[in-house]
Amino acid sequence: MSVPMITLNDGTKIPQLGLGVWKMPEEETPGLIMSALNNGYRHIDTAAAYGNEAGVGRGILESGVPRDEIFITTKLWNDRQGYDETLRAFDESMGKLGLETLDLYLIHWPMPNRGHYVDTWKAFVKLQQEGRIRAIGVSNFLPEHLERLIDETGITPALNQVELHPRFQQSAQRAAHAKLGIATECWSPLGQGEALSNPVLTEIASRHGKSVAQVILRWQVQLGCITIPKSSNHDRMRENITIFDFELSDAEMARIKDLDAADGRIGSDPATAD
Ligand code: NAD
Repeated sequence: MSVPMITLNDGTKIPQLGLGVWKMPEEETPGLIMSALNNGYRHIDTAAAYGNEAGVGRGILESGVPRDEIFITTKLWNDRQGYDETLRAFDESMGKLGLETLDLYLIHWPMPNRGHYVDTWKAFVKLQQEGRIRAIGVSNFLPEHLERLIDETGITPALNQVELHPRFQQSAQRAAHAKLGIATECWSPLGQGEALSNPVLTEIASRHGKSVAQVILRWQVQLGCITIPKSSNHDRMRENITIFDFELSDAEMARIKDLDAADGRIGSDPATAD
């Protein structure tokens, strides 16, 4: 069963599930990308900061899968923000990926204390207008950062990639995205593995004959989010993409909603990350 596409606010279509490659060593990346493509993945999420863009590019090239069938995201790292620096960093990423056109470019973190994210966004808009990027978006932006970008440039990000898993469900952030027409993409969707032993999820999974990872990813898909689980294990990669053949009931969705926790955040707080 193929992965559904989500249409972003600029008309670009993105597969609702992709492979995250954070912490994937560069030398193992080409083989793992080829394995993912063989298992039906058509969406890869990397970043300049992950140090494996060249491996992603090599894997895509060596797979023989046509370039236009694969959706590739990379991200601008914090120390490259600013208009001119962004243009240079983009060229470096594209050189490593070996691509002519990028599907999605994200500002990795807003870094509000440094004050460069609006200028960075203006460079993203220019690159999109030149046809070098299909869709432009952000990551870890709070509603106040999104509103400032829109107010100062008139251009709304297509997507915001944020931490989102059963113990950190981001309902206020998702509501802000819905109001602004921004798609929500979940990072660390499995809570970096932490969520996999939860008893409520285990019970729901056994009822469907599915794994806990599959239930979590299915929950994110039913919320309307895009999700990018990471795995370097061939069986788990296949497992994580096999979530389009079952459905969680409203009652099961409600039980998962109750797992949200005030202290559920794993990563940094975007308001103070610097
Ligand atoms: P994740 O929540 O995807 O968990 C990954 C870990 O869960 C794996 O290392 C593996 O140990 C385990 N796992 C995966 N599939 C499994 C399965 N089926 N069964 C059992 N265990 C399984 O964690 P992540 O890598 O932090 O997040 C996913 C992706 O999100 C990253 O690779 C990256 O692309 C992106 N990300 C973005 C940001 C950001 O700031 N934008 C931050 C973190 C991660």
